[in-house]
Amino acid sequence: MTDFVKLLLNAHFFYPDRLSGKEHSVFTGVAIIHCSSKDNQLETEVTDFYEETKVKFSDLSEELLWEYIHSGEPMDKAGGYGIQALGGMLVEYVHGDFLNVVGFPLNHFCKKLAELYYPPSKHNVQHKKYDSIPSVDTFENLSDGENNSSNFTEHKGASKLDSSGMCSSGTIYNSENRTSSVRTGFMVPLENQNGVSESAPKLPSKILELMDGFRASKALFVASKLKIFDHLKHRGPLKAVDIANEVGTSVCGTERLLDACAALGLLEKTPQGYSNTDSANAYLTSDGEYSLHGYIIHSNDHLWPLFTYLESAVKEGSRQNHRAFGKKAEDLFKDYYHSEEVKQRFMAAMHSIAHLTARDVATAFDLSRFKSACDLGGCTGALAHELVQIYPNLKVTVFDLPEVIANTSYFQPSGQHMAPVTFVSGDFFKDNLPEADLYILSRVLHDWPDEKIHVLLSRISAVCKPGSALLVAEIVLDEKKTHPPRAVLQSLSMTEGKQRSGSEYKQLLEKYGFTNMEIKITGNLLDAVLCFKKNLSP
Ligand code: SAM
Repeated sequence: MTDFVKLLLNAHFFYPDRLSGKEHSVFTGVAIIHCSSKDNQLETEVTDFYEETKVKFSDLSEELLWEYIHSGEPMDKAGGYGIQALGGMLVEYVHGDFLNVVGFPLNHFCKKLAELYYPPSKHNVQHKKYDSIPSVDTFENLSDGENNSSNFTEHKGASKLDSSGMCSSGTIYNSENRTSSVRTGFMVPLENQNGVSESAPKLPSKILELMDGFRASKALFVASKLKIFDHLKHRGPLKAVDIANEVGTSVCGTERLLDACAALGLLEKTPQGYSNTDSANAYLTSDGEYSLHGYIIHSNDHLWPLFTYLESAVKEGSRQNHRAFGKKAEDLFKDYYHSEEVKQRFMAAMHSIAHLTARDVATAFDLSRFKSACDLGGCTGALAHELVQIYPNLKVTVFDLPEVIANTSYFQPSGQHMAPVTFVSGDFFKDNLPEADLYILSRVLHDWPDEKIHVLLSRISAVCKPGSALLVAEIVLDEKKTHPPRAVLQSLSMTEGKQRSGSEYKQLLEKYGFTNMEIKITGNLLDAVLCFKKNLSP
């Protein structure tokens, strides 16, 4: 007789900013499967239960939330916080089992085991008979774990063996007005009406999520393009008909789009109407402090058409601008800068990501030893402005193509007294580079083929004095070059340049005399690499 007990846990993401000042419930669903063999027949008994713990967050200031985000702790946590660590400081009170919030309701679990085995209770136990013993793998789905936020089945509360035979379980973070989401997970053999065992197919959650991903992206893009989030900013809940009238769209189509945004967690829907979530206010409105609106519009108007021709790009190994836009210039930027409208759109896209990443890039290393910096291809100056704020003694020059420099005024920060940033126009492949003791290449190297990189790095190396440094801001791939997926997917539309791993950056930069390389994985959308120009041999 062999016994084993298998536990299944899943998790769902919510975010501390939406939980601020509110009480929410954390549910964990647990299924215990007791397996035994008798006369070469597998017998299983499934017992399931759930545990609910109520957690109240204090009113959280934006600064505290950013501090917490920048600590990196929320990134791999179900619910977006770790109560057992820094996240504990967000919490006003906990009602119920603390360990349930950490991840597992140990007390309830032990009681359940005692109930089952001393003596075993038959209450709430389901018996299944099998013709043969399924492999242990049948019950393995722990890889579909915490980090996965996909949801295909909505339940409230405990795990259940549902009518389709799919067993669901999971830790569920359920705040006010929210339905908890639970993913179904593994294959459970069932008996059909004739008593014959058959297996319900395992639901390939990840694949289904990817299949639907384009719909979700497009819904976000269209809502952003129609400025739905701008219309809802600072306003009470609005009905679909009012939004449709303001935006100039059909009522039925608008309602579908608003419901899709609510389903995606971008809007809140109540009987009074729709309103922005805090994330929508911060990131999706066009004037939000960390607005991604520019990048979303670029994704819709530029990347989406390009990705339509991904198959041709893979077959031919080249950029597909001619297919997507009817023309292809000799380099990527000439494609962007051929019209004022496309250029503005591209600059707004670069600005939104640069603004969001600037602080992490600027503080990845202590740059206070440098007196002057030159951000080559620095575009709107978003990183430059962050640098002068953090290092008041640093003079920063942004060097970019003339058509970009002519348009930077729109993006300059206003209001507070800002240390000045100097803008210089030129072509970094041809023109003299401004003098500096720190050169910066942010999101530049990945754009170009090796021969162009050779020209650029040779030129920087030639003007860089020994002891001066080069700061590269890029997504640094892991050594297998499959992580982070965002970078790998970006590569699909970058057939001329490429993303690199840490060792590839080291090898590349050393070739041009840059040594003592350090890498900082920031947890943000860009990582940072710092290296120093080698001293000449004595
Ligand atoms: N560094 C900015 C950032 O991280 O957001 C912008 C990155 S964007 C991908 C590349 C920048 O390089 C653009 O601003 C582009 O105009 C600039 N660039 C491209 N070719 C250039 C050249 N030949 N000389 C100077 N700048 C160039």
